Amino acid sequence: MLEISGLFARYGGITALRDVSMTIPDGAVVALLGSNGAGKSTLLNSIMGSIEGVTEGSIRLNGEEVRGKKPTDLMHRGVAMAPEGRQIFSDLSIDENLRMGAYLRRDPDGIRSDRDRIFALFPRLEERHNQRAGTLSGGEQQMLAIGRALMSRPQLLLLDEPSLGLAPLFVTQIMRIVSDINAGGIAVVLVEQNARQALRVSTEGYVMERGTIRMSGRACDLSKDPSVTAAYLGGN
Ligand code: ATP
Repeated sequence: MLEISGLFARYGGITALRDVSMTIPDGAVVALLGSNGAGKSTLLNSIMGSIEGVTEGSIRLNGEEVRGKKPTDLMHRGVAMAPEGRQIFSDLSIDENLRMGAYLRRDPDGIRSDRDRIFALFPRLEERHNQRAGTLSGGEQQMLAIGRALMSRPQLLLLDEPSLGLAPLFVTQIMRIVSDINAGGIAVVLVEQNARQALRVSTEGYVMERGTIRMSGRACDLSKDPSVTAAYLGGN
């Protein structure tokens, strides 16, 4: 579905991505691991077209070059992102936030049925559908950010640290939801600090270090690899 090759991204004088290549097959869940500042968010933002400074390389989505296209172009082509820090609209209700996720769509019946599907996935959101998003708990805001991304009916969902700052119970719940979303046929790229949990729900994984891809492979192999376990899985 997505084929990235030889990608470079720069912020002024800082090179944040260096010769990054990655393949995301149809229907896969790909974990993207790495320490702080490794370039994971930059890679997702490069795919989504939401940063400037992507200077070399290619990003092919279903065979079409999309490097340099705008986020709305990517959304039209079936890519959606739930960014780090959630970035929900705090003054709007849950319902209004979900509607914002569907702003490019012109199929009211489809939008309504997707909203129902999202509420089935996140019953907590349905119970609170009129509540102002800024008053939701961290975990609920994360659910809303994912729900809003799903409202554009993506084929590929980019999740940037969905479990950041959440209690362990919520982390497990978010991972289960990633599996449920994927079971519906949506490919997912999952940036996660909880490497063990991320690899458990992923089909493959990439490890980034200082702007480059350090390792890649099947998630089950990475979770047994000594250097991955030492660096990201607490050494066991
Ligand atoms: P984290 O897990 O801490 O979010 P990350 O792997 O997502 O880290 P990025 O946020 O992609 O890493 O950052 C990669 C590098 O690019 C870092 O050195 C960071 O300081 C730098 N960087 C990121 N955003 C900007 C920006 N807007 N301007 C300048 N430098 C930036």
